[in-house]
Amino acid sequence: MTHHHNFIAGHWMDGESAITNINPSDLSDEIGTYAQASSAQLNQALEQAKIAQIQWAGYALERKQTVLHNIGQALMARAEELGTLLSREEGKPLAEGKGEVYRAGQFFTYYAAEVLRQLGQNADSVRAGVDIDIRREPIGTVAVISPWNFPTATAAWKIAPALAFGNAVVWKPANLTPASAVALTDIIAQQDIPAGLFSLVMGAGREIGQALVESPMVDAITFTGSVDVGRQIAQSAIGNLTKLQMEMGSKNALVVMDDADVDLAVSLAVGGAFGGTGQKCTASSRLVVHRAIHDEFVDKLVKATTAMRVGHALAADTQMGPVVSDTQLQQNLNYVKTGQAEGATLLCGGERVERNTDGYYMTPGVFVDTNNQMQINREELFAPLTAVIAVADYEQALATVNDTRFGLTSGIVTQRLSVAHDFRRRAQTGVVTINLPTAGTDYHVPFGGRGDSSYGSREQGQQAIEFYTQMKTTYMAS
Ligand code: NAP
Repeated sequence: MTHHHNFIAGHWMDGESAITNINPSDLSDEIGTYAQASSAQLNQALEQAKIAQIQWAGYALERKQTVLHNIGQALMARAEELGTLLSREEGKPLAEGKGEVYRAGQFFTYYAAEVLRQLGQNADSVRAGVDIDIRREPIGTVAVISPWNFPTATAAWKIAPALAFGNAVVWKPANLTPASAVALTDIIAQQDIPAGLFSLVMGAGREIGQALVESPMVDAITFTGSVDVGRQIAQSAIGNLTKLQMEMGSKNALVVMDDADVDLAVSLAVGGAFGGTGQKCTASSRLVVHRAIHDEFVDKLVKATTAMRVGHALAADTQMGPVVSDTQLQQNLNYVKTGQAEGATLLCGGERVERNTDGYYMTPGVFVDTNNQMQINREELFAPLTAVIAVADYEQALATVNDTRFGLTSGIVTQRLSVAHDFRRRAQTGVVTINLPTAGTDYHVPFGGRGDSSYGSREQGQQAIEFYTQMKTTYMAS
């Protein structure tokens, strides 16, 4: 088993302790050991980041662009190898693991092009003989805190714009997925960048993560993870007046109207609810279904769900891998009990796979007879569980979609253009999909939610510039 180090101030460094990473598909497969950064190492990373950022900001645009382009190309070229590693440590089926690494590469190549975008504005002054220019400058050192469910893509969509717009990065990845973090860092470390521009500090969120977000040497924090941790980070950021951007939990709904193509709706629901073992911020965890087609939809949904092949993430025929950890598995099984205690009927799944206890396997589950006030429809489950809520008409469907404290994605399946347009206008989510899954986004447009799902400016696309830069207005006597 290989022991992996943190990358701090331009050097790979051992830590003061280590964790072992285990394959959730096969608990006998120990992937590696990973150094946990000390607080002294964190400070070293932050001090060197300040120096390196000034050098990096002075690099010619073409030189910066080449760095981002090369990272992107390396990720895409190694998608097979790194996707296998990702699936092995996180548990998503191999095709999803490879797809994620390839997508991470696309983020970097997209931002490589953004480096060359013409920025800035000129303005006439209200005073005679004065010119004004308005520029965007790097913000400084960006702390990146990322989750385990998209360990490479989430990190990429933060690290790529941070570097593209001239910043230094100190990255604290999730402790459940350190192998993917080391692999991405290895690619970045080989580039033509100043020592310390990019550091990897692995360790527990409550320790090294908290120390990072509390540091006055951090100029901006970008976080993706749970709402509870997001709230804690916000306290630290506000105390230090640090710029903050967060993407958090959700409770996405997919509406199935009476005129929907039911087979399409079922395939969208199954993919949206159980892709990534339901461990997606964009998962379709509420299925809001018109009563007129409810029985047909549920019948087909249960057939498709029970037909899903649950197995080892790296097996060729696996459609759904294990959940990521024992903690997550126990939490999921508890939610099954909660739903049943609330009066929901579990039509299929929701059980530990007893024939295979080598990994954290459970069967995908479907609840019916649920209403939107039940705990299983109000809390983010982050599990391969979905709940059908029957509604009488479109207005009730829309009200149900919007009756949540979250607001990341929502979708509708309908053949009526007027209903689709109305839904686009009135659904209170940051992302809306029409006859498409609630999960799955492009890399060149903004992504983010409303309510408790997001905080601060958008990630991705050109809008990322709002977060990763700051403005300067210069007045010049002519
Ligand atoms: P999490 O427990 O909130 O952890 C996220 C990250 O924060 C991890 O790196 C974690 O480190 C770190 N952390 C934990 N406590 C911290 C603290 N006090 N200070 C600083 N950092 C701390 O979330 P998760 O379980 O990894 O991921 C699942 C959640 O992410 C779900 O709620 C999901 O919806 C959300 N998510 C949202 C999006 C989106 O774009 N909206 C995308 C993906 C995931 P450790 O791993 O060491 O605890």
